[in-house]
Amino acid sequence: MNADAKKRYKDIEFPFTCPISNRTFETPQGLSCYVTKTLKTNHEEYYDVYINHRDNTCFFCGSKGKFISISKGYRNLCESVECVKKSFNSHSVQGFMYRNMCSKEEAERFFKLENERQLNKRLKTQSELRRVDTLWDKKRSRNCKEFWIEKGHSEAEAVLKSKEVMNDIHSKTSIKLKANPEKYASKYPTKKEYYLSKGFNEKEAAQKISEIQNRFSLKKCIEKYGKEDGEVVFVKRQEKWQQSLVDNGNVKGGYSKISQVLFYQILEQYNKRDINNVFFWTKNREYFLKKDSYIYLYDFCDIKKKKIIEYNGDQYHANPKIYEKNDTPHPYHKDKNWTAEKIWEKDASKIELAKSSGFEVLTIWDSEYRKNPQQTIEKCIKFINE
Ligand SMILES: [Zn+2]
Repeated sequence: MNADAKKRYKDIEFPFTCPISNRTFETPQGLSCYVTKTLKTNHEEYYDVYINHRDNTCFFCGSKGKFISISKGYRNLCESVECVKKSFNSHSVQGFMYRNMCSKEEAERFFKLENERQLNKRLKTQSELRRVDTLWDKKRSRNCKEFWIEKGHSEAEAVLKSKEVMNDIHSKTSIKLKANPEKYASKYPTKKEYYLSKGFNEKEAAQKISEIQNRFSLKKCIEKYGKEDGEVVFVKRQEKWQQSLVDNGNVKGGYSKISQVLFYQILEQYNKRDINNVFFWTKNREYFLKKDSYIYLYDFCDIKKKKIIEYNGDQYHANPKIYEKNDTPHPYHKDKNWTAEKIWEKDASKIELAKSSGFEVLTIWDSEYRKNPQQTIEKCIKFINE
């Protein structure tokens, strides 16, 4: 029993005069003896009738508290397990109020100060630990190798483990994003929603995004992630970005799988040191040129030799050997009147744009390559080396 709890059992004042006999008692023992032996009365009953000088209800449930003795009366706590537990609970305002016989406001003030004190203590300890051990935080993060080394793994294992955790985090995040793209789009500077929410119009938004993309160079990626990882990150980022542009309908392009087969066959003829000059979708990304607010992707591009190869599907691009100018061969263009003539105009202006940027352009037709693959490869290689 602590000092404060004693106050719960408030003593009656001595000397005490019994109203029945007018006898006066100096001590609790004298009174107790008198009630038992002379009056032959139950202590609790005598107390209820002749003393009852204070509240006898349980602080927690309001039922009758436990009777202690004739000189102390009742405590403000019944005998139920729940109430006794509550009276001991050091983390509750109620328990604090009971033990300290204080008001709710006082108890709450105490807890606020106490929480602050403990928080400060923790922060102080943590900053001390950080000072002593500079890896303190890393040892506490599952996505850092230090965490796993601390757990007894070898460095190589730890690196793998931490990567797994990172991948897990990334995939969870991307599921979250994909489930609710509109909600998050405006938070990323690579999304047009980000700029639209800031008051730019569609065209300005597209402009801003392409500026950002240009700042994201392979060089920076390698600086940040190292040679090997940097290239992977860069390529992934490019692919994702291009896909997002296609999704947004801002790109005139796309690729067919068979074209990539041809391009890899061409690539086999390259020296190792020249390979980096070559761009196509599945290798790194497609090379592009911008005109007005549109981006034109070119299927295959050697940026050093200034050669571009366009691989055209016969239907999509209306092969003039097959179609007349008023035919509409495109299988699902939204414009029902998307004639071969319009397609040729579009493609011609795309080629014109490349030529005005100093490139030579060779067009390969899908049917041509399928009929004579080897001959087509040779034609392409000859074109590149001219
Ligand atoms: Zn109770």
